[in-house]
Amino acid sequence: MINLDDKRVNFALRAVQQAASLAADVQGELISEAITKDDRSPVTVADFAAQAIVGSMLEEAFPGELLVGEEAADVLRSSEERGTLENITNFVGRLISGVTPEYVCDLIDRGVDSPGENYWTLDPIDGTKGFLRGAQYATALAYVENGVVQLGVLGCPNITPDLEENIGGAGSLAIAVRGQGSWIATLKDPIREDSFSQLSVSPQIDPVKARLMRSFESAHTNTDQIDAFQNKLGGKADPVRMDSQVKYALLASGEGEVYLRLLSSDRPDYREKIWDQAAGSIIVEEAGGIVTDLDGKALDFSQGRTLKMNRGICATNGILHQQALDALSAVQA
Ligand code: AMP
Ligand code: MG
Repeated sequence: MINLDDKRVNFALRAVQQAASLAADVQGELISEAITKDDRSPVTVADFAAQAIVGSMLEEAFPGELLVGEEAADVLRSSEERGTLENITNFVGRLISGVTPEYVCDLIDRGVDSPGENYWTLDPIDGTKGFLRGAQYATALAYVENGVVQLGVLGCPNITPDLEENIGGAGSLAIAVRGQGSWIATLKDPIREDSFSQLSVSPQIDPVKARLMRSFESAHTNTDQIDAFQNKLGGKADPVRMDSQVKYALLASGEGEVYLRLLSSDRPDYREKIWDQAAGSIIVEEAGGIVTDLDGKALDFSQGRTLKMNRGICATNGILHQQALDALSAVQA
């Protein structure tokens, strides 16, 4: 079991628990059928409110440490965004009494650091499209030392610790610490040892039975190549399409065998953001899986806000990793 008394572990679990629960409240209260296609305001409110909560808790626990968050408050400081900022302030005020809009902006901006030798990285809402569709999304927080992720936490409000989809349910909280395994609990349960059970990847050795995980959004990947990859591998199982890093939790718990992030053909130069991969990748690795880029190289979190040195992601149960890389290079040749 991980050491829950460790100050970083304790902070990361509590911060993600609170931020993800607040995001779940926003999804429950603000997402309605009346939302038009382009109205992103609920996800904006949840994104910023969740980052403010983590910023505030980090300032209390580790005042001197770097936080590289996805969001920055400058867009909220203009008068046109006053209403959105007030909405955010009301949600943050449920957890931190007496906050003003200006103070909420300062809390959000606790996360505007650049990555250093050691840093925290946060995606307050990973899977914004899933959030708006009323589907899967996650709050992701990780701690990186010298380019290697040492701790990762995922808060997944719409999936149970058994990885069953349950929109609006009790949700789950997954954590991995380097050398201490991957563990999962119910999101809202008290943080104590008996709340957690250990995750381990699928023992599947047969590529024909491999279940492939992929983005729900076709624009985030290359669907033709995924189909060709599956043919090459000989896989017959239906792919699992899902938003966000929740896919990493599924892979870590044996609910799938191979997860690819291929580059969409209209954005071949896309490089992954550190906060989109850090927490999820260590959760897979500590559950016994392997995570590399599409060329089989280790992910390098020392290159700034993106994984500049890495092209795409290949994550597997470990056993099938080399076969997956081989099938990929055949397809991409
Ligand atoms: P997923 O739901 O697995 O597709 O992952 C969502 C994440 O994909 C978001 O957090 C975005 O940062 C990221 N994303 C956005 N555009 C692209 C793209 N063209 N290719 C790959 N990932 C993207
Ligand atoms: Mg994201």
